[in-house]
Amino acid sequence: MQISLDKLIRRETDKLDLNFSQKVDTISYCDNNYKLVSPINLNGKISSTKNGLYLDVDVDFTILDQCSRCLEDVEVPIEYSINGFLVKEDYDEDSFEDDDAFIYDGQVVDIIELIQQTLDFKIPPRVLCDEDCMGLCQGCGANLNKENCSCTETANDEENIDPRFAKLKDIFKND
Ligand SMILES: [Zn+2]
Ligand SMILES: [Zn+2]
Repeated sequence: MQISLDKLIRRETDKLDLNFSQKVDTISYCDNNYKLVSPINLNGKISSTKNGLYLDVDVDFTILDQCSRCLEDVEVPIEYSINGFLVKEDYDEDSFEDDDAFIYDGQVVDIIELIQQTLDFKIPPRVLCDEDCMGLCQGCGANLNKENCSCTETANDEENIDPRFAKLKDIFKND
């Protein structure tokens, strides 16, 4: 999703509106690839100011993540604003102390890259399909939201055992 800044740089305009939606399959962040289940919606502008090109845009999109208890897919809506100056690699850091600065190549801005750089803290660290999700059975790996299992309650310490390990345990048991 590359935006050409040609018109701004040649001063044919002092403002570039960014209002559009684009379908994107995945977005990566911290070594994770997230599948997108909505287009990326963009709403904002890039303006020419006396201090340089300033980007001010709201983004929203929905990713698929896994419930940390039952591992089912969960749709997670993400919505935030990206604001800051667009600068070239050799920019003077001191003059942008109070603002965010995003490096671009002097020609085009890649919105996907910008989103990947700004996603910190936007993806919740612990996603749940439901506050009351019952998770997976520690004994047999059954999804307790969907089925009852016949395991005894002895291994039922949900909070302390990662449900993924319970699944592994299950695999080894059948080995
Ligand atoms: Zn769940
Ligand atoms: Zn069970």
